[in-house]
Amino acid sequence: MRPQRCTALLPIAALGIQSTSARVGRLAPRDAACRKTSVAILGGGMAGVTAAQALSNNSITDFVIIEYNDRLGGRATQADFGKQDDGSPYVVELGPNWVCIVAKHFRLPPWWWSPMGRRETNRPESDLGSGQSGRPGVSTENPIWTLAKKHKLKNTPSNYSSILTYDENGHTDYSRMLDEYDAAWAKASARAGRMLAENMQDETARAGLALAGWNPRHGDMKRQAVEWWRWDWDAALTPEESSLIFGAAGDNLTFHQFSDQNNLVVDPRGYGHIVQEESRTFLGADDRRLLLGTRVTNITYSDDGVTVHNADGSCVSAAYAICTFSLGVLQNAGADAVAFRPELPEWKRVAVQKFTMGTYTKVFLQFNETFWPADTQYFLYASPTRRGHFPVWQSLSADGFLPGSNIIFATAVEQASYRLEQQTDEQTKHEALEVLRQMFPGVTVPEPLAFMYPRWTSTPWSYGSYSNWPVGTTLEMHQNLRANTGRLWFAGEATSAQYFGFLHGAWFEGMEAGSRVAALLRGECADAHDAHDAPRCGDRPHYDPLHGTSPLEDYRAPNGWAASSFYASRPE
Ligand SMILES: Cc1cc2nc3c(=O)[nH]c(=O)nc-3n(C[C@H](O)[C@H](O)[C@H](O)COP(=O)(O)OP(=O)(O)OC[C@H]3O[C@@H](n4cnc5c(N)ncnc54)[C@H](O)[C@@H]3O)c2cc1C
Repeated sequence: MRPQRCTALLPIAALGIQSTSARVGRLAPRDAACRKTSVAILGGGMAGVTAAQALSNNSITDFVIIEYNDRLGGRATQADFGKQDDGSPYVVELGPNWVCIVAKHFRLPPWWWSPMGRRETNRPESDLGSGQSGRPGVSTENPIWTLAKKHKLKNTPSNYSSILTYDENGHTDYSRMLDEYDAAWAKASARAGRMLAENMQDETARAGLALAGWNPRHGDMKRQAVEWWRWDWDAALTPEESSLIFGAAGDNLTFHQFSDQNNLVVDPRGYGHIVQEESRTFLGADDRRLLLGTRVTNITYSDDGVTVHNADGSCVSAAYAICTFSLGVLQNAGADAVAFRPELPEWKRVAVQKFTMGTYTKVFLQFNETFWPADTQYFLYASPTRRGHFPVWQSLSADGFLPGSNIIFATAVEQASYRLEQQTDEQTKHEALEVLRQMFPGVTVPEPLAFMYPRWTSTPWSYGSYSNWPVGTTLEMHQNLRANTGRLWFAGEATSAQYFGFLHGAWFEGMEAGSRVAALLRGECADAHDAHDAPRCGDRPHYDPLHGTSPLEDYRAPNGWAASSFYASRPE
């Protein structure tokens, strides 16, 4: 995923919300047979680790992290691939790859300023490293970029202008179509900003693009390829399946406010290294609070506590739990994934099923030579018959990445990913080579030395890659994804209204949930100094019934919409 939607949006005014009672700080009656703790953190990806870090920072050290895999990091996971000259493997990222360098104007949400009703001076340096001011309205940077610098993660700027275009007859220059798309998108996103500000009904990104003048025919395969690269490659779902307002709001702001620089992580320790290193700031060696290789099967929750049963027969009884499982896992609840008792309330189940989980598949090939232009980062291919058929190829052999590796990877999303997941590696390799041979007709494309791709849709601890905001879904609907049900809290990439789909979304949501639960345990207010709110404690709001649109005044911190701004959504 290319993180191009790094945004900050304005906190605004008050709203009418439903909220279940806080029961602040009351400890739960707990299942006598189970291990006892104050907070059970379900999942050890970015959100789970930052939730634990926030608890720790707020002096709540009695927690347990329960993680399915034998490592921390969740979707930030890498694999050995191919061979270097010395016979050792390269390391490639199966999940997140880019870090979005939002160095200017990035605003921390108000809760972060004073999560415990105090100024952030009590916050230890270790939770962020350097570079974070912690005050609302003060520019700072993407926390993931801060962590990448802190842990010296090797990364290189992606240059999206370093691209050559191809069709079934080889290189053919249709790069001017990229500018056509970009001009239309600028108009569509400005309109989306107005729609948000004026509480107008959402529409598909497809409709928004068409109204802005970008409306390629189904048979116009070059423009379809261009659109795929600009939209599907980021959203992991088609413009038809995506919200214009929420897909564009971030992009609109990015365009006006932030540097557009995204760096590709190429570190032999993997992107997940930053999650593992951060966990060391609050976990000791062999810490009993970390249960790796433990699959949660049942979560029983109430207003008094949460009991978690695991596949190995163990259980944990907690005053609060923070569930950071992916949207895909929640969507499969009760079937192949975890079961909730009682069943989650209807407003929560509707929210879970309404949002969409995209799949983003990287197909890696290593050759004995770099037969593609070695100084180019990206290659765009327009299949004559299928939209999204191995459309974007990315060279890791280029300078700054894994030079000399002769590794290139293609990306598939949505239906193409589902198809690749169902077929054998041999079938997929055959298709990929067929495409490369069309793109480079003057070259004898050899058999690859190594070939690999992950199957995210069928990965039982993720069920997909990252979430996407579907059309016609309001901020309140999204808030229902975030809201707690009794003592069971939710956090993760998908619960971030502003940064869904990104590691920094998971970071913010984990921090927020951890800070809020810590506040509840201490009987304090978590959100007391939001400049636009009266002091507020306790639960996250949820909405029942839901209305068709979200008034502008709902775009504020309690609904997960904490930062600035609408100045970017002015009419073009
Ligand atoms: C292919 C791909 C490309 C991406 N590209 C980018 C990118 O370039 N930049 C970017 O910023 N973001 C990108 N993302 C998104 C980013 O990876 C996620 O936003 C982030 O990792 C989510 O973190 P999380 O903590 O919310 O969830 P997760 O990382 O999914 O953590 C949840 C944890 O819960 C555990 N779990 C699930 N079920 C159970 C169970 N039953 N019992 C116990 N534990 C369980 C899982 O094992 C997992 O460790 C990409 C993701 C993918 C998959």
